[in-house]
Amino acid sequence: MKDQQSLLATARAKLEDALVAKSLRRSGERFAILEEVYSRDDHFDADDLFQAMQQKAYPVSRATVYNTLEVLVDCGLVIRHHFGEEDNSKSRYEKSLGRQQHAHLVCTVCHHVKEFCDPRLHLIKTNVGNALQFNVASHSLVFYGHCTDDGCETRPDRDTSASIPTQDLSQ
Ligand SMILES: [Zn+2]
Ligand SMILES: [Zn+2]
Repeated sequence: MKDQQSLLATARAKLEDALVAKSLRRSGERFAILEEVYSRDDHFDADDLFQAMQQKAYPVSRATVYNTLEVLVDCGLVIRHHFGEEDNSKSRYEKSLGRQQHAHLVCTVCHHVKEFCDPRLHLIKTNVGNALQFNVASHSLVFYGHCTDDGCETRPDRDTSASIPTQDLSQ
């Protein structure tokens, strides 16, 4: 739990710097949004976040949620994903600080997202970069398909409450 606290402290400091740099108000709302984001382990969209803030009875407008997300993405505290399913093309987000680099599997039926990390991806990145004289700064890898989880076919929407353990495939 201590790790989580210090992570959050680092995240808060980073957001603070970003808000100063952008001459934006350092409002409590923005930090409450940051806290909510860092309490989650899922891949949420802006509406999920807005609804979570509503459930906390925290008076945050949709506009504040959206523009705070922009700031969080800009300063690297949140990663934005475009998981290109046709009915779900809106951006999905996840926290980035303290997370290891990972790739995603997206179920096109229930929209569940799974994660995995595999050191071979790093190897490919290095080899391709060397071969093509290219400094690879980042990458994104998404596998689309159909998960075999219970209730996948019938689940009305993705289950955003489930925390997703990142599978380590290094063995
Ligand atoms: Zn599924
Ligand atoms: Zn992820």
